[in-house]
Amino acid sequence: MEKINTKICFLLIALAFLIYGCSNEKNNFGPLGSTHQHADIKVYVLENAIDFSLPQYQLQDRLTHLEDGDGDVVHTHATGITLGYLFRTLGMKISDECLKLNTGNEYCNVGNAKLNVFAKNRNSEWEAIFYASDYIIQDMDKILVTYGTESEEEIKEQMESVTDKAKESSMAKE
Ligand SMILES: [Zn+2]
Repeated sequence: MEKINTKICFLLIALAFLIYGCSNEKNNFGPLGSTHQHADIKVYVLENAIDFSLPQYQLQDRLTHLEDGDGDVVHTHATGITLGYLFRTLGMKISDECLKLNTGNEYCNVGNAKLNVFAKNRNSEWEAIFYASDYIIQDMDKILVTYGTESEEEIKEQMESVTDKAKESSMAKE
């Protein structure tokens, strides 16, 4: 009897490790529905804004997506969603030095051409984001990702082009 108990105990421990190992392999996101937040986003590549209202970018993932033909507002439906994850769902990849588009084209820091990422939280100023891939998208963030040779002045203009729509979505809980 005791032997069986020991065996069961061992099996349970092994199972616990297995479950823990599997869940740990995934990202540290909350479950679907653990939050519902919104952020305004704009991505420029060589001065052209990517049009996220195109079908290929809409509703690509359950945890985070753009929806309703709107290309300006990211909806997150789980806590801890990172910019890196969002880009992956769009068939793109962002790292510290490179931005890879869903066309397969990759844009990396070279000469004067740089990848810059900025975020502006509620009631604060624009800040440069390092390790952009790990940046956790916050409610009512404004996010600018831009690759090119823009001057500070031009980047400011791009910041101003980021919309102010997340607010409305968050208040309406859309
Ligand atoms: Zn929403």
